[in-house]
Amino acid sequence: MSEIENFGDYETIEKHIIRPPIPNALKKYWNNRYNLFSRFDEGIWLDYQSWYSVTPERVAYSIAQSIFESHKPELVIDAFSGCGGNTIQFAKFCPVISIELDPIKIAMAKHNLAIYEIPSSRVTFIQGDVLDVLRSIDFASQYRTIIFMSPPWGGPSYSGKSTYSLNDLIPYTFDILYKEAFRITPYIAAFLPKNTDIDELAQYSTDKNRIVVTNFLYEGYSKAICCYFNMKNVLASTALQQV
Ligand code: ADP
Repeated sequence: MSEIENFGDYETIEKHIIRPPIPNALKKYWNNRYNLFSRFDEGIWLDYQSWYSVTPERVAYSIAQSIFESHKPELVIDAFSGCGGNTIQFAKFCPVISIELDPIKIAMAKHNLAIYEIPSSRVTFIQGDVLDVLRSIDFASQYRTIIFMSPPWGGPSYSGKSTYSLNDLIPYTFDILYKEAFRITPYIAAFLPKNTDIDELAQYSTDKNRIVVTNFLYEGYSKAICCYFNMKNVLASTALQQV
């Protein structure tokens, strides 16, 4: 038993781990499992929802590396931790505070971090609603902090829309999340659908503060974008990236 399993009632967590036979709706994600986690076979835990929302490992690494190289953060806040795909990669570079509403996902994230040999002292998990938690960690503004958010897009149906509005994020619109994050730091990164409304995004840009958008391509197709706000040092060379 690893320490993660002490986090909650293991039997409750166990019931949420997806294992073969894989439900039909998740088969395409299962077939992609080694892109999600190269160490998948060492025992990665994902619940149903996380199969389609976890950030693929190379994408998560690339985001963490770009942020670290350009801004040398002392602290990263991962505002929607899920099962830990992004947190694992950030924690390779600096200490992380990971926020997540669902305690089952936190238990899974802790387990997954251990597989990637991230010391548990490197990541502080805080269970709760993202806005409540952001309000409660004002101390983070004393550090060179970056807030990364990969908020719920509303499930896979986002891709059917011609344009994805920032108001379609759930449970909070992008504007609410951005303003709350901005109270702590102007350095904000958001992982958003490939079809995000660029005009809406542009409203967060000023002459002084440009937005750098990285478009992650997979097998030649755009999969998702990462938007870096007030972080003009993020290299423009990451702007179009094959992963
Ligand atoms: P998607 O719609 O992209 O599939 P999810 O619904 O999986 O995204 O949500 C991403 C993560 O955000 C999940 O782990 C979910 O538990 C978490 N989450 C959702 N709402 C909140 C919230 N209000 N505060 C903190 N975490 C949240």
